[in-house]
Amino acid sequence: MVIKPKVRGFICTTAHPVGCAAHVEEQIAYIQSQPRVEGTKRALIIGCSTGYGLATRIAAAFACGADTLGVCFEKPASDNRTATAGWYNTAAFEQAARKAGRFAKTVNGDAFSDEVKREVIDLIRTHMGQVDLVVYSLASPRRKHPRTGETYSSVLKTIGRPFTSKTVDVHTGKVTEVTVQPATDEEIRDTIMVMGGEDWQMWMDALEEAGVLADGATTVAYSYIGPDLTRAIYRDGTIGKAKDDLEATALRLNERLQRRGGRAFVSVNKAVVTQSSSAIPVVPLYISLLFKVMKEKGLHEDCIQQMYRLLADRLYRGGEVPVDEQGRIRLDELELRDDVQAAVMSGWERVDTDNLAQLTDIEGYRRDFLRLFGFEMDGVDYDADVNPEVPLG
Ligand code: NAD
Repeated sequence: MVIKPKVRGFICTTAHPVGCAAHVEEQIAYIQSQPRVEGTKRALIIGCSTGYGLATRIAAAFACGADTLGVCFEKPASDNRTATAGWYNTAAFEQAARKAGRFAKTVNGDAFSDEVKREVIDLIRTHMGQVDLVVYSLASPRRKHPRTGETYSSVLKTIGRPFTSKTVDVHTGKVTEVTVQPATDEEIRDTIMVMGGEDWQMWMDALEEAGVLADGATTVAYSYIGPDLTRAIYRDGTIGKAKDDLEATALRLNERLQRRGGRAFVSVNKAVVTQSSSAIPVVPLYISLLFKVMKEKGLHEDCIQQMYRLLADRLYRGGEVPVDEQGRIRLDELELRDDVQAAVMSGWERVDTDNLAQLTDIEGYRRDFLRLFGFEMDGVDYDADVNPEVPLG
């Protein structure tokens, strides 16, 4: 079939297998252009198929030479629908990793469930013995709790009072105002249940109890802080409360793992275009301005550059890992630099529908968005007939 992008709001319902493979290859090539890193040898990546998780898996396998086991929640092709981008990414990653002589296997299922945790533990026992790195990079709209069976949904809302701000429809280029309503107490709790630290803790408990976590193991989960511009909707909003919980979990896990020479961190990463960040109101307009400024200053980074830095300059640089006062790894230092934020702010005050293309990198945003689904990759023939059915594993 000939596959073209079908964009509906902040999601693209099609994905291109050849384009997704090219996107994975591009990230592998970046890692291979960097110095090798003496680090993880056996890594478990929970949320491994897109965005930051995929980039971490690629960096672990190709910078450190690690065997990797991944967990994701993706759909294969069916009838005349393509598979999801994460499915194609994973197939391409597994193939490249195996070609390079690395073990690579992926469990496609609900990471929040006990069954998937058990399946992962069995696979570690059989193929890897133990893991020395556990990366927690889930971004999910809902979670079925494995003990109670209750399903929680996360919301992207403010806390306390409504927040009105500029926002952009990335696809039409229309800049409008949006008002985000405050969440109820129940919505705040539910968002913490989905995106907070409980499931990360459950993973670490299960791995440790099963004896598949190596002495001295490292675990890391991802967080975001961002600027004042997005504070009401992000860090001071429902998702921020979940991130507070995730960060508190890191401190508790760190204390526990330290007894066995291990360590737990939250890494605060920069804003990038991913399927998750596109769904947050206001954030895409901020990212479009940020990209313009960071590209002009030669500071632009995507997931793969950030994750290489996480391994090379933070986790495995030797000696103490540099952290902030709250014990967090910071990879957002360039995004939050005063000169970068001042330039973003100046653009923010002036931006409207007419000057959007001139003041922001909306084109770069759109391109990155389409690339998430395997479109807009150089060298891919998008008029060619391709087989959407790609096997995993
Ligand atoms: P993403 O949407 O690209 O990736 C989410 C991953 O989670 C995918 O691999 C998906 O398959 C997996 N997943 C979702 N639900 C699952 C389930 N029930 N079971 C198994 N796998 C499941 O998201 P991302 O933007 O890379 O986010 C990853 C983490 O990075 C999040 O914690 C996010 O808050 C954080 N982060 C993102 C940004 C950003 O700008 N995108 C910035 C800083 C931190």
